[in-house]
Amino acid sequence: MTLDFLIIGGGIAGTSIAHELAKYDLTVALLEKEAELSFGVSKANSGIVHTGFQSDYRQLKTRLAVRGNELYRQVAKLLDFPFVPLGELVVAFPGERQALEQIRENGEKLRIPGLEIVNRDWLHDQEPNLSSEVECALLGPTAAVINPYETIPALAENAMANGVRILCENEVTSIRNENKRWQVTTSKGTYRATVVINAAGLYADQIARMGGMDVPAITPWKGEEYLLDKHRGRLTGRVIFPLPQKTTKGTLIIPTADGNTMIGPTAEEIHDREDFSTSRKGKEAVLASARRLIPSLRDEDIIASFAGLRPTTTEGDFHIREDLEGFVNLVGIQSPGLTAGPAIAEYVVKMLSDRVTFEPKRDYVAKRTAIPRFRELSHGERNELIREDPEYGEVVCRCELVTKREVKEAIRRGARTLDGIKFRTRCQMGRCHGSFCTMKIMTIMAQELGIPYEAVTKRGKGSELVKT
Ligand SMILES: Cc1cc2nc3c(=O)[nH]c(=O)nc-3n(C[C@H](O)[C@H](O)[C@H](O)COP(=O)(O)OP(=O)(O)OC[C@H]3O[C@@H](n4cnc5c(N)ncnc54)[C@H](O)[C@@H]3O)c2cc1C
Repeated sequence: MTLDFLIIGGGIAGTSIAHELAKYDLTVALLEKEAELSFGVSKANSGIVHTGFQSDYRQLKTRLAVRGNELYRQVAKLLDFPFVPLGELVVAFPGERQALEQIRENGEKLRIPGLEIVNRDWLHDQEPNLSSEVECALLGPTAAVINPYETIPALAENAMANGVRILCENEVTSIRNENKRWQVTTSKGTYRATVVINAAGLYADQIARMGGMDVPAITPWKGEEYLLDKHRGRLTGRVIFPLPQKTTKGTLIIPTADGNTMIGPTAEEIHDREDFSTSRKGKEAVLASARRLIPSLRDEDIIASFAGLRPTTTEGDFHIREDLEGFVNLVGIQSPGLTAGPAIAEYVVKMLSDRVTFEPKRDYVAKRTAIPRFRELSHGERNELIREDPEYGEVVCRCELVTKREVKEAIRRGARTLDGIKFRTRCQMGRCHGSFCTMKIMTIMAQELGIPYEAVTKRGKGSELVKT
């Protein structure tokens, strides 16, 4: 296959770039080693679209975060994915106000709108669960939360509707340059392209080296996150940050896009790029720091935990460069990489625009519609859907009220694993963790995909649930 653009990696960076390139008259494909997109760093994070004021205004990552925050508002509307503009508060305990002033100055240099230092009375009124020890806080109204694992499929569906090819289970194993074209070999075949974009997250340094380029080495920094039961709802109206430390933004209180609360993450340098374990030590550290902000937090509120790895480099900034002609490396896309996603795509296109012709596609489809969420509808709307299609009347997941029709639609749109269905529909995300619905989903997958039960996986090869 010979293409204009070949993207390696289907996280927020690679998929945002695919979505952006789909606007132009170009042949584009995206290669992803996992069974589905968004199974890398972009799956396991805090889901915050940051204001951008937490990092230095001179850094590329900061500028791209501020721009990404602006762009998400438009993209979320066009692609119909949840974007919840809650705002954020960076809180200060006695003696810390000066540091807040400095963050505000940094934010003002970035022209972030609405920054304001609010006092104890305001906090008492607006955020009653917050510790009374907090003296004041910096309000950043432009922060928001999203579900990255819903955002990425939305970007991908729209890219595919505009002709981009998404090729999963395609692990890049070697790269060479031949007659000014890049030749990329994967576990499934060989692809040729004029431009290669390396957006391989934790493995971006290794991919660059395969192509003969020397880029900063990636060191993973693990972050453990803890999700609280939905019955506690959102404990705060906004995302709550303590004052940032040198290497981390600290332990946060995150009201999620789905209406529960998450606390975390930790920040620990590790050496294994596949170590996603969580620990008792991590949980205790997160709970202790989170209780300093919300004293009423209880151990038993936690229903789930996960860990994500930040792909950091010693440069401390994003490395987004065309290191060899026609080969763009995105290395060190650590936080705020999720926020920056759409702006990274815009930046890459601008970077190449002096020598690639970006001719707008004539029949470009700008909009995409989400799978209807049965649980969010009124009784009247639900009845109407059931009349249209009785499979909306068959509940598969009781905890999250997800119907058979929604599961089938997720499969039609590309879900190939139990996790892929979970991320698109919330099936298995409730308190029973799939004890009730997993078998039902497996039956639907077997029927719809024409595969035996033994071939149904949780997250791709090696995670089969039924062994023969
Ligand atoms: C705990 C935690 C919390 C965070 N919270 C936030 C937050 O709230 N807000 C924010 O803005 N940022 C946050 N971040 C950072 C953000 O998650 C990352 O910056 C972002 O997800 C990186 O996206 P990516 O596309 O570069 O990488 P990935 O999502 O990892 O995508 C890279 C893809 O490349 C694929 N790949 C790798 N090697 C190959 C190969 N050889 N062949 C083919 N494919 C390959 C991988 O499977 C993967 O899917 C957080 C990170 C962590 C760990």
